[in-house]
Amino acid sequence: MAIRKIIRMGHPVLRKEGKKVPIKNIKSPEIVSLIKDMHETMKSSDGIGLAAPQIGESLQLAIIEIPEDSPRYPGTKKSDLLIIFNPKVTILDKKNQGYWEGCLSLPGLRGYVERPRKIRVDFLNENGEEVSLKLEGFLSTVFQHEIDHLNGKLYVDRMKDPKKFSYTEEYDKYHSDEGENFSE
Ligand code: ZN
Repeated sequence: MAIRKIIRMGHPVLRKEGKKVPIKNIKSPEIVSLIKDMHETMKSSDGIGLAAPQIGESLQLAIIEIPEDSPRYPGTKKSDLLIIFNPKVTILDKKNQGYWEGCLSLPGLRGYVERPRKIRVDFLNENGEEVSLKLEGFLSTVFQHEIDHLNGKLYVDRMKDPKKFSYTEEYDKYHSDEGENFSE
Protein backbone atom coordinates (compact mmCIF):
# COMPACT_ATOMS: atom_id res chain seq x y z
CA MET A 1 0.00 0.00 0.00
CA ALA A 2 1.15 3.49 -0.66
CA ILE A 3 0.03 7.05 -0.44
CA ARG A 4 0.01 8.33 -4.00
CA LYS A 5 0.48 11.81 -5.31
CA ILE A 6 -2.76 13.62 -6.12
CA ILE A 7 -2.49 15.39 -9.45
CA ARG A 8 -3.81 18.92 -9.81
CA MET A 9 -5.84 20.91 -12.32
CA GLY A 10 -3.76 21.42 -15.43
CA HIS A 11 -2.57 17.80 -15.53
CA PRO A 12 -3.96 16.31 -18.77
CA VAL A 13 -5.07 13.03 -17.15
CA LEU A 14 -7.75 14.97 -15.23
CA ARG A 15 -9.23 15.95 -18.59
CA LYS A 16 -9.38 12.45 -20.08
CA GLU A 17 -12.31 10.09 -19.97
CA GLY A 18 -11.32 7.11 -17.80
CA LYS A 19 -11.32 3.64 -19.35
CA LYS A 20 -14.02 1.23 -18.23
CA VAL A 21 -12.74 -1.55 -15.99
CA PRO A 22 -13.77 -4.94 -17.44
CA ILE A 23 -15.71 -6.95 -14.87
CA LYS A 24 -13.13 -9.78 -15.01
CA ASN A 25 -10.39 -7.37 -13.89
CA ILE A 26 -12.20 -6.03 -10.83
CA LYS A 27 -10.67 -8.62 -8.49
CA SER A 28 -7.23 -8.62 -10.10
CA PRO A 29 -4.28 -7.93 -7.78
CA GLU A 30 -3.55 -4.69 -9.69
CA ILE A 31 -7.03 -3.27 -9.12
CA VAL A 32 -7.26 -4.50 -5.50
CA SER A 33 -3.94 -2.83 -4.74
CA LEU A 34 -4.99 0.34 -6.59
CA ILE A 35 -8.14 0.58 -4.42
CA LYS A 36 -5.98 0.22 -1.28
CA ASP A 37 -3.70 3.01 -2.48
CA MET A 38 -6.68 5.23 -3.26
CA HIS A 39 -8.17 4.61 0.18
CA GLU A 40 -4.90 5.43 1.94
CA THR A 41 -4.34 8.50 -0.19
CA MET A 42 -7.88 9.75 0.46
CA LYS A 43 -7.61 9.22 4.23
CA SER A 44 -4.22 10.92 4.40
CA SER A 45 -5.80 14.02 2.83
CA ASP A 46 -8.90 13.85 5.06
CA GLY A 47 -10.94 13.38 1.93
CA ILE A 48 -14.37 11.80 1.58
CA GLY A 49 -13.99 10.85 -2.06
CA LEU A 50 -11.31 10.16 -4.61
CA ALA A 51 -11.35 9.19 -8.27
CA ALA A 52 -8.63 7.06 -9.89
CA PRO A 53 -7.71 9.78 -12.45
CA GLN A 54 -6.75 12.01 -9.51
CA ILE A 55 -3.79 9.74 -8.84
CA GLY A 56 -3.01 9.52 -12.53
CA GLU A 57 -4.90 6.28 -13.30
CA SER A 58 -7.27 6.93 -16.16
CA LEU A 59 -9.95 4.40 -15.15
CA GLN A 60 -13.67 4.43 -14.35
CA LEU A 61 -13.10 3.89 -10.63
CA ALA A 62 -13.91 6.10 -7.66
CA ILE A 63 -14.26 5.63 -3.91
CA ILE A 64 -16.45 7.48 -1.41
CA GLU A 65 -16.42 7.19 2.37
CA ILE A 66 -18.21 9.53 4.74
CA PRO A 67 -16.51 9.37 8.14
CA GLU A 68 -18.41 9.03 11.39
CA ASP A 69 -19.70 12.24 12.97
CA SER A 70 -17.82 14.35 10.50
CA PRO A 71 -17.78 17.80 12.10
CA ARG A 72 -17.57 19.30 8.62
CA TYR A 73 -20.88 17.82 7.59
CA PRO A 74 -23.32 17.76 10.47
CA GLY A 75 -26.33 15.62 9.77
CA THR A 76 -24.59 13.28 7.33
CA LYS A 77 -24.40 9.63 8.19
CA LYS A 78 -21.24 7.57 8.23
CA SER A 79 -21.01 5.41 5.13
CA ASP A 80 -19.15 2.22 4.38
CA LEU A 81 -16.34 2.49 1.90
CA LEU A 82 -18.17 2.65 -1.41
CA ILE A 83 -16.19 1.36 -4.38
CA ILE A 84 -17.63 2.43 -7.70
CA PHE A 85 -16.70 1.01 -11.11
CA ASN A 86 -18.09 2.15 -14.47
CA PRO A 87 -20.92 4.30 -13.08
CA LYS A 88 -23.86 5.69 -15.01
CA VAL A 89 -25.92 8.60 -13.66
CA THR A 90 -29.62 9.09 -14.36
CA ILE A 91 -31.18 12.36 -13.24
CA LEU A 92 -34.39 11.74 -11.30
CA ASP A 93 -35.19 15.35 -10.45
CA LYS A 94 -33.93 18.20 -12.56
CA LYS A 95 -34.34 20.63 -9.70
CA ASN A 96 -30.86 21.78 -8.73
CA GLN A 97 -29.17 22.19 -5.39
CA GLY A 98 -26.03 24.24 -4.81
CA TYR A 99 -22.94 23.54 -2.72
CA TRP A 100 -19.64 25.36 -2.36
CA GLU A 101 -17.40 22.53 -3.59
CA GLY A 102 -13.79 21.81 -2.88
CA CYS A 103 -11.59 19.32 -4.72
CA LEU A 104 -8.31 17.61 -3.80
CA SER A 105 -7.08 18.44 -7.31
CA LEU A 106 -7.79 22.17 -6.78
CA PRO A 107 -6.30 22.61 -3.32
CA GLY A 108 -7.09 25.81 -1.46
CA LEU A 109 -10.07 26.77 -3.63
CA ARG A 110 -13.85 26.69 -3.38
CA GLY A 111 -16.50 27.20 -6.01
CA TYR A 112 -20.28 27.31 -5.97
CA VAL A 113 -21.82 24.60 -8.15
CA GLU A 114 -25.40 23.62 -8.78
CA ARG A 115 -26.25 20.02 -9.62
CA PRO A 116 -29.44 17.94 -9.89
CA ARG A 117 -30.61 17.13 -6.40
CA LYS A 118 -31.85 13.62 -7.04
CA ILE A 119 -30.12 10.97 -9.13
CA ARG A 120 -29.84 7.24 -9.64
CA VAL A 121 -26.37 5.76 -10.01
CA ASP A 122 -25.80 2.32 -11.52
CA PHE A 123 -22.36 0.82 -11.10
CA LEU A 124 -20.36 -2.30 -10.30
CA ASN A 125 -18.99 -2.77 -6.79
CA GLU A 126 -15.71 -4.39 -5.70
CA ASN A 127 -17.23 -7.85 -6.18
CA GLY A 128 -18.35 -7.08 -9.70
CA GLU A 129 -22.00 -6.95 -8.56
CA GLU A 130 -24.43 -4.50 -10.13
CA VAL A 131 -25.56 -1.85 -7.67
CA SER A 132 -28.23 0.79 -8.16
CA LEU A 133 -28.54 3.63 -5.65
CA LYS A 134 -31.03 6.47 -5.46
CA LEU A 135 -29.36 9.48 -3.92
CA GLU A 136 -30.37 12.95 -2.89
CA GLY A 137 -28.91 15.89 -1.05
CA PHE A 138 -25.29 15.75 0.01
CA LEU A 139 -24.53 12.27 -1.37
CA SER A 140 -26.03 13.16 -4.73
CA THR A 141 -23.54 16.02 -5.04
CA VAL A 142 -20.60 13.91 -3.80
CA PHE A 143 -21.33 11.13 -6.32
CA GLN A 144 -21.73 13.59 -9.20
CA HIS A 145 -18.45 15.32 -8.29
CA GLU A 146 -16.57 11.98 -8.27
CA ILE A 147 -18.20 10.66 -11.43
CA ASP A 148 -17.34 13.90 -13.24
CA HIS A 149 -13.67 13.05 -12.58
CA LEU A 150 -14.16 9.77 -14.48
CA ASN A 151 -15.37 11.75 -17.47
CA GLY A 152 -12.61 14.34 -17.55
CA LYS A 153 -14.66 17.05 -15.84
CA LEU A 154 -13.86 19.31 -12.90
CA TYR A 155 -16.27 21.36 -10.80
CA VAL A 156 -15.06 24.59 -12.41
CA ASP A 157 -16.69 23.40 -15.66
CA ARG A 158 -20.06 23.48 -13.91
CA MET A 159 -19.74 26.86 -12.21
CA LYS A 160 -22.12 29.49 -13.53
CA ASP A 161 -20.91 32.51 -11.57
CA PRO A 162 -17.16 33.24 -11.46
CA LYS A 163 -17.86 35.61 -8.58
CA LYS A 164 -18.58 32.54 -6.52
CA PHE A 165 -15.07 31.17 -6.90
CA SER A 166 -12.81 31.79 -3.94
CA TYR A 167 -9.70 30.80 -2.04
CA THR A 168 -10.63 28.69 0.98
CA GLU A 169 -9.43 31.31 3.44
CA GLU A 170 -11.57 34.03 1.86
CA TYR A 171 -14.43 31.57 1.52
CA ASP A 172 -14.29 30.93 5.28
CA LYS A 173 -14.24 34.65 5.97
CA TYR A 174 -16.79 36.00 3.53
CA HIS A 175 -18.91 33.23 2.02
CA SER A 176 -19.31 30.43 4.54
CA ASP A 177 -22.84 31.58 5.39
CA GLU A 178 -23.87 31.43 1.73
CA GLY A 179 -25.13 27.87 1.72
CA GLU A 180 -23.78 24.43 2.34
CA ASN A 181 -20.34 23.23 1.42
CA PHE A 182 -18.67 20.02 0.43
CA SER A 183 -14.98 19.36 0.09
CA GLU A 184 -13.77 16.19 -1.50
ZN1 ZN B 1 -12.57 16.48 -7.08
